[in-house]
Amino acid sequence: MDFAKNLLADNVRVLKSQVTKTAYQGVAIAVVSIIIASALVSYYHTGHISLDGVAKAQTENYALWILDSIPFVFGFWGQYSSSIIAYQAGAMIFDQTQELRSRAESLEKQASYTATHDGATDLPNRALFYDRVEQAILSANSQNKLLSILLVEVANFKEIYDTLGRNSSDLILKQVATRLQNVVVSRDSVGRIDGNIFSVLLLDTEDENDAVNLAKNIQAALEPAFMVEKLHVAVHSNVGIVNFPMHGEDVDTLVQKAGVALFMAAKSHEGYGIYAPSFDDHSPRRLTLMSELRQAIDKNQLHVYYQPKVSIRTGVLYGAEALVRWEHPKHGFIAPDEFIPMAERTRMIKHLTTWVLKEAFLHCADWHRRGIELTISVNLSARDLHDPELPDVIAGVAASTAIKPSWVMLEITESSIMSDPERTLEIIQRLHGMGYRFSIDDFGTGYSSLAYLKKLPLTELKIDKSFVGDLSHSENDAVIVNATINLAHNLALQVTAEGVESQEVLDTLKNYGCDIAQGYFLSKPLSFVEFNQWMQQAEWQPVKLNN
Ligand code: C2E
Ligand code: MG
Ligand code: MG
Repeated sequence: MDFAKNLLADNVRVLKSQVTKTAYQGVAIAVVSIIIASALVSYYHTGHISLDGVAKAQTENYALWILDSIPFVFGFWGQYSSSIIAYQAGAMIFDQTQELRSRAESLEKQASYTATHDGATDLPNRALFYDRVEQAILSANSQNKLLSILLVEVANFKEIYDTLGRNSSDLILKQVATRLQNVVVSRDSVGRIDGNIFSVLLLDTEDENDAVNLAKNIQAALEPAFMVEKLHVAVHSNVGIVNFPMHGEDVDTLVQKAGVALFMAAKSHEGYGIYAPSFDDHSPRRLTLMSELRQAIDKNQLHVYYQPKVSIRTGVLYGAEALVRWEHPKHGFIAPDEFIPMAERTRMIKHLTTWVLKEAFLHCADWHRRGIELTISVNLSARDLHDPELPDVIAGVAASTAIKPSWVMLEITESSIMSDPERTLEIIQRLHGMGYRFSIDDFGTGYSSLAYLKKLPLTELKIDKSFVGDLSHSENDAVIVNATINLAHNLALQVTAEGVESQEVLDTLKNYGCDIAQGYFLSKPLSFVEFNQWMQQAEWQPVKLNN
């Protein structure tokens, strides 16, 4: 506050000195007027201007007396009003600065709130919940205390969503959140970390019974039916429990093991369960793989493969889609469909996406250096598109690999946009502004909203392979594909058909006016080295610049 007072006093001093300058000018003008007036009176009375005449005029002329007082009036009035004006101006600037500052602060607070909270329930989102667990682990470690994490799953959420739609199912999630917050000791310890999974952090537990009792209370609280649109909706819940430090020492391991416990809880009679290492043998492979994925990148077990995209009309090689592969030492080759959803559930996906972007950009830069003009397509997951840092991550990778944004096509899916349209749209717009192009992947499989499609700055629409594979034999698929191509062209988008497995399908697509084909008929996804060899002998050649 002292600082503010000093600032105001300084401002007043500066402004006052400026206004005082104007007051001095006023006084100077008044003095000059007196001299001229005295000289004129002297001339009028004596016929010439002399000191005697001026002195006489000064003593005898009443009008001059009044004029003589004016500099003093000006001086005093100038000083007085300058002080007032300067003070008012200073105070005004000060008030406005304060207002601007508090407005900026509240905007900042709002932005950080939306980045850390879930829009539907207002609960902390995954990032904030993980952060809180990390803090809790630090203090539990220093004080030798225990803590538990409970994952609460709304098991029949998909049914509820499919039957009641998004708005009503969001209302149910909100009610679930409220009931959970009322069961736990601290309202801050509840989060929503996935579509149908809530998380609860229980601090300072004495033994395992504390968490089990809480799990029972949670289930009792979620037992009574929920009311939405005058309907009674029953929620079936399961609860998985892990304890720190017994089951893991970091948040990722703990949440992963809570996931295993949740899986076993769903199979149990009680609907809740504490993690036990023996569960790993019974749980699906994906649950145990989750913790291994973290090291897979460092151990060089991940590879990026490239699948060619060919322009149907010209026969020119248009580009390649980067598809990640995991070569597991024990399980062999693992498809991305198995580990990407897994990575999305933990914070691994950011790490994975950044790594894929780096590899793909490096390889694309290599093609361009050799004069081979290819567009590189990279898949982004839903969680990437919720990350406000994504544009900066991509800009950083692009700069370090010397790639131009116009060489890149970022593939996004309908469902990844629909889960949080506003936030996603903002991130997409930022990247678009930086020169990156977007493609809507797996078109036709999600809950499409044409209204949103129009809002997105898209360049390409990719028809999902489930409509393309059987195109020449299924009349239904043929109608869908043809209509989608027309729709895309009406929206000024280029169309890629994925899953092209035969010449017949390629010919049909050509008849429909489809722009680009991708599929096993052209080539399976290949390693970078294989892709380069394939390019040398393939019927489809890239555009080459002479450099
Ligand atoms: P997607 O982006 O739709 O990729 C096309 C998938 O179709 C690839 O599967 C590709 O191998 C497969 N495919 C291509 N041609 C044919 C064909 O003629 N017939 C059939 N039956 N399939 C074909 P893949 O590589 O297993 O990838 C599956 C999905 O995993 C991808 O679908 C994409 O959604 C995701 N994915 C792959 N790599 C990444 C990545 O680096 N990041 C993210 N976020 N997702 C990725
Ligand atoms: Mg794709
Ligand atoms: Mg696809």
